[in-house]
Amino acid sequence: VRARVMQVDQSPEVTYADIGGIEEQMDEVRETVEMPLEHPEMFEDVGIDPPSGVLLHGPPGTGKTMLAKAVANETDATFIKMAGSELVHKFIGEGSKLVRDLFELARQHEPAVIFIDEIDAIAAKRTDSKTSGDAEVQRTMMQLLSEMDGFDERGEIRIIAATNRFDMLDRAILRPGRFDRLIEVPKPDYEGRVQIFKIHTRNMNLSDDVDFEVLADEAGEVSGADVKAITTEAGMFAIRDDRTEVQMDDFRNAWEKIEAEEEEDEDVSK
Ligand code: ATP
Repeated sequence: VRARVMQVDQSPEVTYADIGGIEEQMDEVRETVEMPLEHPEMFEDVGIDPPSGVLLHGPPGTGKTMLAKAVANETDATFIKMAGSELVHKFIGEGSKLVRDLFELARQHEPAVIFIDEIDAIAAKRTDSKTSGDAEVQRTMMQLLSEMDGFDERGEIRIIAATNRFDMLDRAILRPGRFDRLIEVPKPDYEGRVQIFKIHTRNMNLSDDVDFEVLADEAGEVSGADVKAITTEAGMFAIRDDRTEVQMDDFRNAWEKIEAEEEEDEDVSK
């Protein structure tokens, strides 16, 4: 079970240079996660505790997981990921046991960054339905909070959680000593999109007519993950056409194809 739910990465490959358009968020993550890991004495000297947990929230595909991986990489910490959603449909008691295992694993691999994706799955506001599933989810959350209360804030374990559904969260998890630092990770603006296009085409063979400023403008409000998908698909168009150089039209065709597929998906889910 542990192998399925927890993902351990001794040295994730993502660096800060791979992340575009969210500098402010990156600075905040560095201040709240990197500083306490690398200079715990600073907090001691000043006489404050660093934030216990950091919560990243924002739309899907904006770089939340990347941020957590990059900070683990740059601090030489082990990256341990667990998805909240995988904890919810388990047997009674298993969710809380997994949370205990998670912290045990982190202690064995210090320094470590624990990343809990989709935290809303275990920390949603309580609904009226009193199903046993809800009680189990609640227990899992209580276990997480108790683990967070139990460890030394100046220790070598840092916790980052992420959600796309901030509005659904039980406010209890945001109290001091819990996830007390909130960082919103939005979709990139125009400048951010240009930057992300550049990042994801670093290794691509580009024709001279490729203009990221025009592409960033035409793409509109897309996420970093969308930009990444566009660049890969553009490469596919070149391959289909038996070319090694990727042209401006490949990017345009790629975006058109992805947009059409997204609309189809939306129609299906309606
Ligand atoms: P989710 O909420 O769906 O888990 P997320 O915010 O954690 O999404 P990531 O997993 O970090 O998103 O991003 C998915 C992929 O999209 C990344 O591997 C990367 O290729 C690309 N990407 C997303 N945001 C950025 C960004 N700001 N800069 C560069 N690439 C990005």
